[in-house]
Amino acid sequence: MNTKCINCGWRGPMEDWMLNKRCPNCGIDEVQELKLSKGPFAAFRRPHLPRWYTAFLTISLLPILAWPLVALSSIFLFDSGNVAKTMPIAIALDCYPLYIIGLRKLSLLAFKKSQALAAVIASIPLVPAAFFLWEFCREWFYFFKG
Ligand SMILES: [Zn+2]
Repeated sequence: MNTKCINCGWRGPMEDWMLNKRCPNCGIDEVQELKLSKGPFAAFRRPHLPRWYTAFLTISLLPILAWPLVALSSIFLFDSGNVAKTMPIAIALDCYPLYIIGLRKLSLLAFKKSQALAAVIASIPLVPAAFFLWEFCREWFYFFKG
């Protein structure tokens, strides 16, 4: 069973609350019981983490959706002709979802120490993603402008 603090919104397992019958986050002694999450994504929910952070973690995974486009584009790297030099670059580029998942795990580890640090780590994948999205939109803009 999960609990929710009625003061600060902290959500967590009942055991954490039972420890000293106080919210581990703000110290108030009133909590509300939460129904256990159900549904196909129940295993991926993290009710003990604040919602802004879980939303952030989900957004940081979105660049993975562009993987087919990146994999297809990486073929054109071989146009340079130097296969021995291009191959490691293409493999490193096509493995980018692994870096995102690695950063996500690192962020979850860092969260216990510092929420700000965890947020910074989780947002690292969004920096190149935002840059490529910007460049992509710019190309299309000039394409239609002529
Ligand atoms: Zn609280």
